[in-house]
Amino acid sequence: MKSISLILLLTFSLELHAEWYQKSFDVMGTRAKVEFESNSPELASQLLENVVLEMNRVDKLMSPYKPNSELSILNKNAAKGYVKISQELFDLLKKSEEYSKLTGGAFDVTFSSVGYLYDYRKQSKPDAGTIESLKSSINFKSIQLKPDATEVKFLDENTKIDLGGIAKGHAVDQCIELLKRHGIKNAFVSAGGDSRVIGSKGDRLWYIGIKHPRDEQKLIVNMPLQEVAISTSGDYERFFEKDGVRYHHIIDPKTGDSARNSQSVTILADSSVDADALSTSIFILGAEKGMALVNQLPNVSAVIIDKQGKMTFSDDLTGAN
Ligand code: ADP
Ligand code: MG
Repeated sequence: MKSISLILLLTFSLELHAEWYQKSFDVMGTRAKVEFESNSPELASQLLENVVLEMNRVDKLMSPYKPNSELSILNKNAAKGYVKISQELFDLLKKSEEYSKLTGGAFDVTFSSVGYLYDYRKQSKPDAGTIESLKSSINFKSIQLKPDATEVKFLDENTKIDLGGIAKGHAVDQCIELLKRHGIKNAFVSAGGDSRVIGSKGDRLWYIGIKHPRDEQKLIVNMPLQEVAISTSGDYERFFEKDGVRYHHIIDPKTGDSARNSQSVTILADSSVDADALSTSIFILGAEKGMALVNQLPNVSAVIIDKQGKMTFSDDLTGAN
């Protein structure tokens, strides 16, 4: 009897002390946020710190702007011969290749062969002649992944890769796994437009809004979410306008120019890496082809705002199947 009441008292007091912890910080050229519930302030402050460290670790590995990142070293040397890389980077390149195949080449990390010449802050872009001469170097098939070793080489000397369309999703997944390993049940992690939630926000579900692509003060939808990753790719995140044309950070591999078939694409999927890669690719494919692909994929949903500003939902969200 005594021990039962002690257990009851313990569980009761543990629940009483469960509190919410959160932190926002800058990483990977964007804003990241973590929020979770824990009944141990010591564990919580350690986990907040570990999430920041983990995101920075991924950034250090995959940043195209840090000259000593593993990615920069790969870009510098892989056209000369096989370069040994970490299992983590190798797996992400493999995943990228799968997405290139699935999306008929819309997702292509070698977009950077031309893409690196755009500077959205300085509002500069490559001229038509330069795009024409480098466009053929946008080709994921130039990346040779050795099947039995974590080694990579490029078949084209102008190949450059950039993991900006998938690395933030990977970082979010890593942080969610880290929190889960420490027994956290209710959490939210985001990096820029990539978020993932587990459990609930207290006694209600998590909610994530999709911004109006032409009015940043407005949300067009607020989605209730459960055990899911959500990623939005928009032409309003990093862009400039020149002569009435919008140049932004999602590049159509077919043209080497900004993709102009959509204004915003939101993908829901089981993992952030999938949601991230798919939101970038479906944006490029556009509403018609993109939605046809989404409707074939299990556990993937989409909200697409096409180039005219018209919003459509995948079949599962409208209850069409
Ligand atoms: P954000 O980086 O704003 O979260 P996205 O997930 O839509 O947005 O990814 C855009 C990023 O994806 C670009 O900044 C660039 O690094 C990368 N990217 C652009 N075009 C492609 C492409 N065709 N395939 C793969 N990655 C791309
Ligand atoms: Mg993406």
